[in-house]
Amino acid sequence: MKEIKYQTVTETREKEVGYIKTCNKCGKKKNVNHEKNEEWRDDFKEFYLDFGYESSFDGESWNFDLCEECLINFIKQFKHVPNGFKNGNYSFIKNREEHQKVFESWLETGIWDELEFKTYEEISELNTGWTNIDYLNEAIKQYHPGRPLLDKK
Ligand SMILES: [Zn+2]
Repeated sequence: MKEIKYQTVTETREKEVGYIKTCNKCGKKKNVNHEKNEEWRDDFKEFYLDFGYESSFDGESWNFDLCEECLINFIKQFKHVPNGFKNGNYSFIKNREEHQKVFESWLETGIWDELEFKTYEEISELNTGWTNIDYLNEAIKQYHPGRPLLDKK
């Protein structure tokens, strides 16, 4: 027979209360405190790369973090738009070709405008009542000057 004996003790232990992320490129740091639920503040992105056999980095696994600014500057060096880039659920961009054109224009001008390469008819079709009419009419004024503006549905 065995009877377990209990006694109240106070012990000291290490507890994770947060972390500091450092951007591998620019060195900027981000402090995140778990107790203050600051995880949402962490806009650094973590990258994991595994290299297979016979690659130049045979069997290596890399991991690094980039802050948003460095990530955007990295993307600006791309020739081809990354899948999904600025293209969420509510995007008006319908295919890869249009996505690429908007991306290339953004690289030149710094302005991301999903309506830039739409025809007047395509912009008109977006007037479903869910899309901001001023946004649509601004695009018509800019890219199809002289064409009639849309009325709010
Ligand atoms: Zn950075």
